[in-house]
This record gives sequence, structure tokens and C-alpha cells, in this order.
Amino acid sequence: MSGNAKIRSVPVLPTAMPRPILATVHTSAFRNNLDVARRAAPDARVWAVVKANAYGHGIERVFEGLRGADGFALLDLDEAQRVRDLGWRGPILLLEGVFEQRDLEVCSRLDLWHAVHCDAQIDMLAAHKTNVPQRVFLKMNSGMNRLGFTPGRYRSAWARLNALPQVDEISLMTHFSDADGPRGVAAQMAVFAAATRDLPGERTLSNSAATLRHTVDPDQAAAHPEALVVSDWVRPGIAIYGSAPDYPEHSAAHWGLQPTMTLAAKIIAMQAIDTGACVGYGSQFVAEQPTRVGVVACGYADGYPRICPTGTPVLVDGVRTRTLGRVSMDMLAVDLTPVPEAGPGSEVTLWGRAANGAWLSIDEVAASAQTVGYELMCALAPRVPVVVAA
Ligand SMILES: *Cc1c(COP(=O)(O)O)cnc(C)c1O
Repeated sequence: MSGNAKIRSVPVLPTAMPRPILATVHTSAFRNNLDVARRAAPDARVWAVVKANAYGHGIERVFEGLRGADGFALLDLDEAQRVRDLGWRGPILLLEGVFEQRDLEVCSRLDLWHAVHCDAQIDMLAAHKTNVPQRVFLKMNSGMNRLGFTPGRYRSAWARLNALPQVDEISLMTHFSDADGPRGVAAQMAVFAAATRDLPGERTLSNSAATLRHTVDPDQAAAHPEALVVSDWVRPGIAIYGSAPDYPEHSAAHWGLQPTMTLAAKIIAMQAIDTGACVGYGSQFVAEQPTRVGVVACGYADGYPRICPTGTPVLVDGVRTRTLGRVSMDMLAVDLTPVPEAGPGSEVTLWGRAANGAWLSIDEVAASAQTVGYELMCALAPRVPVVVAA
């Protein structure tokens, strides 16, 4: 605001030719993925988790596709303000609660629900001057050992909150460390269930992995004592962004999820190299046969991981091929062998959807970078232009 006032005149430049790289946010994929979460937990309400600027997509860009959610869960007060600015009047949950006393004033002003995971947050509430009591989500550390009260201290925290005039409804919350893996959720579920047995209030337990993998029909509950049948709210994040929470055990396609982000660029140069010739810094790729190499306008400064080795999957004109050699700051190289027609100007899909309808899951690229889809989405660089598609 005051920053703009200082800029007296902005020279009008002719529109520069954009560099041929573009990210696309797919609104219809959000609707599809939200439906997948709803079908997995039909009795629960759904928090769409939009922390980290909607996992790198941009809160304003994902809002249309997610307005069918029952609430938005995030971390930052600034992000909460942005969701309210979009006209959202429903629930917003601060997943880590407040960080300092004055944050509670913002909670009152924006009508935010907030997690309470430590005594200091209860102290702040006790000191908060308000006529409108606030809804809180009391967090239990049921074994992940990140945030929350231990089971032994949970009830006294509940009692303390319950005695405060500043507090309205108290909901109960925990978070799973292993919902995506072989350890599962049974042990943490048992801890949570035992410590909350006779406490009133709504429950929220499940992230994407727990929602997709550990929710069953109430009729089948007896056969699945580990299943999460008592969950009033689920908290899917990554699934909503079209990435499988348990890749590679299951793919996004297995869960019926669609990619919400496409990162695409174009080939800007081509090299025809002989056997024995190398590609890129450090000569990490050595051709074993004459090879046509496409040079792509995407590098690690765009958020494409530098660690991706030769062989990372990529689509050229919607045809699957591989990267060659090291990723550089602004470019990377691809093997054009499976796409003999391709050349400068051809479409390269780093992840997401190609124009011909083919998909490359961000999870495959993430695996090649020894990480998860979450990190790649969040790391999309600000220099990449982004458009929103239907
Ligand atoms: C990030 C987060 C989620 C969403 O997790 P996903 O694995 O992306 O589904 C849910 N709950 C809490 C407390 C979180 O911090």
C-alpha cells in the first residue's frame, strides 16, 4: 500500500517476449480431488489445507476450485486474511494456532478457529480481551512428537480451556506420523481414543493419507478396528493437489486424483550429438549412440530440482522421454529419440498435463529427486508465470 505510493511513475514498456515457460493451475482438478476426499470420508466435513500458499499454487488461484470445501486450514494470518478477502465467510483453521498475543486480535477480527498445542497459547487466550469467545482445536501429541499436549496432560489442558470465558467450543485434534506407510495409524488412534474417550467435541484426525487409506464404512468398522470411523473433519492437503500421499505404493491415478499443477516449457534449441559426446555441466551424460538432444527453457531457478539425474521422466509433445545430464539454472536437456518430429518450439511437460492429454505425475519427478510432490509444488519459483485454467 504505502510501497505503491512511493512509485511516482512507472514507465510503460512494450510487452517483452515471455520466456517459454508456464505453470497452469487446473480448477477442475481441484473439484475432482475434493470429491475424491469426500467420497473417502463421506460422513466428515473437509478442511482444504491451503498452507504454504496453497502448496505453492497460490491461494487466489485455487480458491475457485476449492470453494466447495467446508473450511480452509492454513498457518499464516496473512493467508487467512487473503482467504477472507476472497469472500470466504466459512470456517478457517490455524493449524498451528497463534504465535503471539496480538494474533488473537486477528483471530477475533477475522473469526478464525485455531489450534492450541501448548500452555503458552492457553496463557495468551486467558489474557485475551474479547466479548466473542473463540473456537479452538486442542491438539494432542499422540506419538508424532511434533506439536501437542501429551495424552497425560491433555485433560488438564482441556479443563483449563473449558474454564476460560474466551473459549467457546473445544474440538479435539491430532496428527499422524505414519498414515502413508506400514506403521499406519492404529497405535496413535488407540492413544487418542483412550485419552479423549469421554471428552465432548468434534474430532479432526486425518491428513490425506489417513483419509484415503484408513477410513472405512461404519458398517465395516468391526472388521477394521484400526479404521478412522470417528472423524468429524478430515484435513486433506496433498491429495487435493493431485499427488498420491503414499506414492510409490499407490499412484495418483490409483486414487482417482488429477494433477492440479502443470509445469510446461518449450524446446529452445536442439543438438544432434555423436556417440561419445557429452551433455551439460560435468559431462554427466555420455551418448551411447547418435542422439538428438532438446534444450528446454526450464532449470533449477524455475523450481525444477537440480538433483534430478539423467533418466528423469518428462513429456515432449505429450510423449514420454527422459532428461539428459545435469539440470542447469535456466535450462535442461531431454532425449528426443522417442519423438523424432520434435524440435525447437515443441511442448515439454515437466509435470502435469500435456496438450495431447497425457499426464506425468509430479510424484514421479519427485521420486527421481529423492523427495515428495509436496516439495516440488511448494518450490515453484516466483519467476515462472502462472495461469489458471478451467
Ligand atoms: C499439512 C497438514 C495437513 C495436510 O497434510 P497432507 O499430507 O498434505 O494431506 C493436515 N493436518 C495438519 C496438521 C497439517 O499440518
